[in-house]
Amino acid sequence: MTEIIAPKGTKDLYLPEIKKWQFIEEQIRQYFSRFLYQEIRTPIFEYTELFYKGTGSESEVVQKEMYTFKDKANRSITLRPENTPSVVRSVLENNLVQEIVPLRFFYIGPMFRYDKPQKGRYRQFHQFGIEVFGDPSAEVDAEVIFSAFGFLEEINIQNIELHINSVGCRQCRPEFLKKLQESAQQKRDELCEDCQRKITTNPLRIFDCKNTHCIEISNHFPKISDYLCPQCHDHFAGVRSALSILEVPFTSNPRLVRGLDYYTRTVFEITSVRLGAQDALLGGGRYDNLFQELGGKEIPATGFAAGIERLILHLDQVPDSKKKIICIVFQSPSFKHKALKLSTYLWKKGFPVFIDYNAKNMKKQFKKCDRIGADYAFIIAEEEISSQSISIKNLKTTEQIQIKSEALDQWLRENI
Ligand code: AMP
Repeated sequence: MTEIIAPKGTKDLYLPEIKKWQFIEEQIRQYFSRFLYQEIRTPIFEYTELFYKGTGSESEVVQKEMYTFKDKANRSITLRPENTPSVVRSVLENNLVQEIVPLRFFYIGPMFRYDKPQKGRYRQFHQFGIEVFGDPSAEVDAEVIFSAFGFLEEINIQNIELHINSVGCRQCRPEFLKKLQESAQQKRDELCEDCQRKITTNPLRIFDCKNTHCIEISNHFPKISDYLCPQCHDHFAGVRSALSILEVPFTSNPRLVRGLDYYTRTVFEITSVRLGAQDALLGGGRYDNLFQELGGKEIPATGFAAGIERLILHLDQVPDSKKKIICIVFQSPSFKHKALKLSTYLWKKGFPVFIDYNAKNMKKQFKKCDRIGADYAFIIAEEEISSQSISIKNLKTTEQIQIKSEALDQWLRENI
């Protein structure tokens, strides 16, 4: 029989790692509410066209990495490789521009890219991200970057670096791309095969190549910073001065371009010194043309997406928020219903309670208490029933007391 295993590039999540996921998700909800982000959940699959128009038909993600298939009605469906196009689609389709103020969203969820799996890179991976719509200011870009940086600090991720750049706009970028293509054509034979292809398809991405020889050559190519129009130039200067006020340390990196096609003006990336090859923790920037590309009017937009698996790689320990666990131990099967009654009372009050219904004797029940890491055993035996009381054993200290049933509420208030 062939063994059924999880598909390549996916992983199951369970204890103890799941604790880190729960911690991060809780922190995201709490932290980003400070900046008035509301959660949005969009479908995991969309019509393929959305990503061709949104993520960009020339991007590597769309060209090489999408999980695309035909549904039973012969429509082309794609598992989302990223969430930004879906959020924009949702805002347009549901007319949220009229409904929600401020137009700020966060999301958390799985994304799918047919990539080469390795440490920190998966085929089903998870991102959380934020999107701000309707604000063209340099300050809001800086606020988004501040919130990204601050979040990593909040969850105690250290040794991180922020790189920023401006990739210009529809006005100034074409001139730059022309000059870049000319320079790249001249050096064509010295570039790797992939970069040679990018000269015509997506020249900006030549700056992304990890090949050291290509890096050396492209270091001499024109820089976008020399081609920014006055508006983009001022916007980028505004982002930098706001970041200084926000006390966020950054490096201006003229080589920084992002993998997705829709960015305009500000782009940024936070990398980790610890991650090695897959060092990008999160990335984002401004995308002022995406609403229009997807059929809406022009609405300025900015945001970022972070890879949760990569954040998890950095979390050594998360605070233990475990509630104290109570086990109910009963002397004989005839007390099972009494045990059940007591546990019902405790569950309804919100306490974590476990009963080993099948254990043959109290010794076995105490063993189980230990295995599940319980803090207290509430013991129901002959003596307790006749005196209308409960014995409570602290399983960490082994200290045991007996209290009257009517004193239970007070004991719970004082001890759990
Ligand atoms: P992107 O959507 O490509 O801008 O990526 C944003 C972030 O998502 C990156 O900085 C990574 O942390 C994470 N990421 C992207 N692709 C993957 C992948 N295949 N596996 C794990 N994390 C990823």
